[in-house]
Amino acid sequence: MLLFTPGPTPSPESIRQAMAIPTLHHRTKEFESYFAFCREKLIEMLKMRDVLMLASSGSGAMEACVRTFCKKPLIVNSGKFGERFSKIAKAYNIDFIELKSEWDTAPSVDSVEKILSENKDIDSICIQICESAGGLRHNVEAIAKMAKSLNPKIAIIADGITAIGVEKIDTTHIDALIGGSQKAFMLPPGMSLIGLSDLALELIEANDVGFYFNLKTELKNQRKNTTAWTSPTSIIIGLAKYFEVADLEAIYRETRARAKATQKALSAIGLKIYPKSPALAMTTIYHEDSVAIRKLLKEKYALNIAGGQDHLKELIFRINHMGIIPIYEASWVVNGIELALDELGLRKFDGTANKVFLENYNRI
Ligand SMILES: *Cc1c(COP(=O)(O)O)cnc(C)c1O
Repeated sequence: MLLFTPGPTPSPESIRQAMAIPTLHHRTKEFESYFAFCREKLIEMLKMRDVLMLASSGSGAMEACVRTFCKKPLIVNSGKFGERFSKIAKAYNIDFIELKSEWDTAPSVDSVEKILSENKDIDSICIQICESAGGLRHNVEAIAKMAKSLNPKIAIIADGITAIGVEKIDTTHIDALIGGSQKAFMLPPGMSLIGLSDLALELIEANDVGFYFNLKTELKNQRKNTTAWTSPTSIIIGLAKYFEVADLEAIYRETRARAKATQKALSAIGLKIYPKSPALAMTTIYHEDSVAIRKLLKEKYALNIAGGQDHLKELIFRINHMGIIPIYEASWVVNGIELALDELGLRKFDGTANKVFLENYNRI
């Protein structure tokens, strides 16, 4: 079965082998050298001042950021993950303003600007770069730039869990950039990370909050290449391997090519791309027969692709593009979908999807 869900993603053999070494104690020079290497590589990759790695899934880092950086956030909610920021704020009685959109529509820079100018007490913005609920790309870079021009001290919290390792992110105006191990890093779930700006470092010093997710305590330890609590050692060893084997420029180029070629191929057989501004991490298709299509893909064509959540549960399907994916696997996905449509009597198979995919893959 090929795993084509937008997280978790398949882990390459070399990374799995690296993680198979005997258990290392986390307070040893040997582990500290893996940790130091990952810190250095993450800072270089994200182009940020500092970074923290936490033993949690991505939501743990989201919670730590809301608590540390937000007193009155504007939360952009265009799907399940934006909604999660709001739920975290509610859980801690943090007052917030929510900008809610349809899951296929990214709010405009102007709509965010309007809210900021009407609510001068907003001190932070929480937003997904890619909102994975619908595969929607937010224009985070432009929103962050505009927000900083109004208030240089506003903290921009960007959930980049399905953007880091997918595309080169312009972090000039981002203060906290959140990542997770099980998406484009191709690692098992269990480690989250936060890239930090100078402003974020100032806020961490000033806001000594929480216990397990106390970023001040973590920062103090991690600057010495250790962690406050037990590190997710195997995942960090896997991450070190990722940096050894991953040619990031090639990954960005190929991910983009896969995403664009998949979108063209599926459009060519009459399918509807769901989001108005699609992210590169995944292709989301809107189809009334999503359940039947996914069932056939799984049972007949050995393809595990994701459905939707909430009101879109049975109406969309999502195909992952994150990580390192061989072209013969990516082209099999569009072939499988075209075959499934034929089988359901929706469209006669003529190989169009594969043809358009391959014609476009190398041109993008
Ligand atoms: C996967 C994901 C997360 C993290 O979810 P966890 O289940 O906590 O790993 C957060 N944001 C986005 C956009 C995601 O895709």
